[in-house]
Amino acid sequence: VLTVSGLRRTYGDTVVAVDGVDFSIHPGEIVTLLGPSGCGKSTTLRTVMGLERANGGTITYQGRVVESETVSVPSNKRDMGMVFQSYAVWPHMTVAENVSYPLHLRKWKKPRIAEAVDEVLALVGLEDFHDRPSTKLSGGQQQRVALARALVYRPGLLLLDEPFSNLDARLRDEMRSEVKAIQREIGIAVLFVTHDQQEALSMSDRIVLMRQGRVLQSAGPEELYNHPSSPAARDFLGQTL
Ligand code: ATP
Ligand code: MG
Repeated sequence: VLTVSGLRRTYGDTVVAVDGVDFSIHPGEIVTLLGPSGCGKSTTLRTVMGLERANGGTITYQGRVVESETVSVPSNKRDMGMVFQSYAVWPHMTVAENVSYPLHLRKWKKPRIAEAVDEVLALVGLEDFHDRPSTKLSGGQQQRVALARALVYRPGLLLLDEPFSNLDARLRDEMRSEVKAIQREIGIAVLFVTHDQQEALSMSDRIVLMRQGRVLQSAGPEELYNHPSSPAARDFLGQTL
């Protein structure tokens, strides 16, 4: 689905946030970018989504180049959905208005919008919240709305940037298994970002371990934990287990 190669992103003359990152995602896979704060996870995600330009490298998505030195496909033309760390629901709108917003942007017709909204609300377990004001929702419900809004146009890739980090531990566990279940149900590819090893272990088909803008190792969860390929990888995995 997605191939990122040699991705580079700098800020000004001194900050190299992403420094030659390579990874790919196959259909139906959950791939997780794991690493300490500041290692470039969010920057990588934002560049994949098209919210930021790359300074080097290539991103290929569904068989076409969406980002390179000469190409930058706008984010709303990339057929990807994204959920951010902080709640990104619009408080002055109902749940259905929040979720249907991307479809209005895409100029879908009303009956098709209504149908897609009902379907996606059922998928995330919010079918009874259609007309609820978004301010009257718990944190977990708000993240479900954000998830529904990212999925409502059925993108080919879902990008999740630490979507559960504002939730308490119990709710976080619940949301993890729910996202897994939804992912299996609709078979969507997911690029997930976290600094939490437990979360990476439980969610991922493959983990891309990052440090200081680079990939330390890219492997399945078991292989990564049993055979860290470098002292730096061993360090990171050892220190917070
Ligand atoms: P966290 O786990 O804390 O979210 P992260 O892995 O997502 O960290 P990024 O947000 O991608 O890290 O940041 C990578 C590096 O780039 C950091 O050193 C950060 O300070 C820097 N950086 C990110 N955004 C900007 C910006 N807009 N301007 C300047 N520097 C930035
Ligand atoms: Mg981040």
